Amino acid sequence: MWIIGYDFHPRYQQIAAFDSATGETVERRLSKGKSSHCETRLKLRLARVAAKIHNSSRNGPSIRPGRKRSISLVPIGTETGSTSPEGRLRVAKYDVAIIGSGPGGYVAAIRAGELGLKTIVVEKDPFLGGTCLHVGCIPTKVLLHHAEVYDHFKNGAELGFEVSGLKINWGNVLARKDKIVKKHAKGIEFLFKKNKVEWVQGWGRYEGPGRISVEKDGKKAQIEASNILLVSGSEARALPGIEPDHKTILTNRSILELPEIPKTLIVVGAGAVGVEFASIYNSFGTQVTILEALPRVVPVEDEEISVELDKTFRKKNINIFTQAMVNSVKKDAKGVTVTFKDKDGKSQTLQAEKLLLAVGRKPMTDNCGLEKSKAKVERGAVHVGPFMETAEKGLYAIGDIVFGLPLLAHAAMMEGISAVTHIAGKPAPAIVKERIPNATYCEPQIGSIGLTEKQAREAGYSVKTGKFPFVGNSKATILGNHGGFIKVVSDEKYGEVLGIHIIGPLATEILSEAAAVLHLEGTIDDMMNMMHAHPTVWEGMGDAFASVRGLQINV
Ligand SMILES: Cc1cc2nc3c(=O)[nH]c(=O)nc-3n(C[C@H](O)[C@H](O)[C@H](O)COP(=O)(O)OP(=O)(O)OC[C@H]3O[C@@H](n4cnc5c(N)ncnc54)[C@H](O)[C@@H]3O)c2cc1C
Repeated sequence: MWIIGYDFHPRYQQIAAFDSATGETVERRLSKGKSSHCETRLKLRLARVAAKIHNSSRNGPSIRPGRKRSISLVPIGTETGSTSPEGRLRVAKYDVAIIGSGPGGYVAAIRAGELGLKTIVVEKDPFLGGTCLHVGCIPTKVLLHHAEVYDHFKNGAELGFEVSGLKINWGNVLARKDKIVKKHAKGIEFLFKKNKVEWVQGWGRYEGPGRISVEKDGKKAQIEASNILLVSGSEARALPGIEPDHKTILTNRSILELPEIPKTLIVVGAGAVGVEFASIYNSFGTQVTILEALPRVVPVEDEEISVELDKTFRKKNINIFTQAMVNSVKKDAKGVTVTFKDKDGKSQTLQAEKLLLAVGRKPMTDNCGLEKSKAKVERGAVHVGPFMETAEKGLYAIGDIVFGLPLLAHAAMMEGISAVTHIAGKPAPAIVKERIPNATYCEPQIGSIGLTEKQAREAGYSVKTGKFPFVGNSKATILGNHGGFIKVVSDEKYGEVLGIHIIGPLATEILSEAAAVLHLEGTIDDMMNMMHAHPTVWEGMGDAFASVRGLQINV
């Protein structure tokens, strides 16, 4: 039987849940000072603790007692799989071996080094940083920044500037992108050295408990490590029968190498990658058309966000076809001709110089040795426990290869931290899907976290929403960018913040407050009474929380 109790201290409110069987405190939290919403917070906290205990009684404890640091002695002939019969103990060379140096791999490696674990990274490429640094987050954000600056110049007259002879030097734009990428790849090398992390180039493969192989130029070497992290990332999906040639039919990699800005571009897919490239090339003067198979753009976002982005993109002269099923893509002298079925079932044809395939990503787990493990693999993705451990003891999976978690750099980073902290026997952060922020850097930007309104209703909450449009925010007006809004989804009963959905200026930056609220399980009342600096775009958050109670000031 489980019993939940809580007790008070004159200066601190304390809340604790007890396991009546062992007398152990399962969770304790101090909240300093008194607040009028203290009782609500305690109730909310208790409800959460009860749920946690309920889950742990079914699935085992969610908060583990501290484990001892992993032992690097592995018996020959057993754990290492060596043929030596004596059963002597031998020191495994490493505490942790990591396959892949993307954000999941390199962050895990640095944290492992900080925690005193002897760590090695195996990377197939001659540089560190993975998809995120070389062909994902960073190069696209460089181009988006350049697009934003170019937009400012184009709208110079509005700001009182006379701008003439404005021209894009595309070669210089690409050169700056490459310089930034190189600088940060070197930065990771420096951080590896600083934290005594070794790295080696080659193809890494799981070979059995405590062992991986590294293959390069036909030569194979073995590495022994007590714990192995597979962080091999993902690659762009193609559509059946439509093979990228990287000249006319492009992926997120090849579109970064275009020698010049195309006059026309078709983007297939309106997820984060698709809308970011649509936004970049629209700013640089390309006529962009988006084809999306689902009924709305950015389909994982709250429905109101999709409606707002659709409206704003169309105003910027981006053509959008939703519920559009691509039938064929044919290359010709002018570029590509695409045939698709529109939402009314009619066949339509479009022509463009280039086509970008942005139809999602698939995990890269082929040829990584997973078949030699007990890890559960589904459609190439690996199932994991709360600290990223697979069903194979000592083998962890991190990042884009993980089943059921979003393919995002910051998710990969925290997953890596969780795994190595767990390996080091320290209290590790468990990954909670609903607390992973989403940031999409198109113009207007989108930042979101937690449940959408629809998801909250489906989960059975008594939902109360609030919304603050940036038109009432003075800093947004100063920036000349006051489209969009902040939407808050909350639970009426306790005022718990369930989700926050932002579209508009600096959305990906003010998302930081949204992430903190969800992480700390704040309520509407906590947040609407928190002071926000003025004038900032950020203060819109205060108005958005207050709007749930009908107490917003600026609209
Ligand atoms: C265009 C684009 C834009 C994006 N923008 C963002 C963004 O703004 N924000 C965000 O959060 N996410 C963004 N993402 C997603 C982000 O890039 C990924 O979620 C992230 O890179 C995943 O990290 P990872 O460490 O799992 O894998 P990766 O970054 O893919 O790294 C995997 C590494 O493993 C190496 N590798 C693979 N197999 C082996 C092997 N067998 N042996 C040795 N090495 C191997 C690869 O070479 C690679 O270096 C974007 C993605 C794309 C495509």
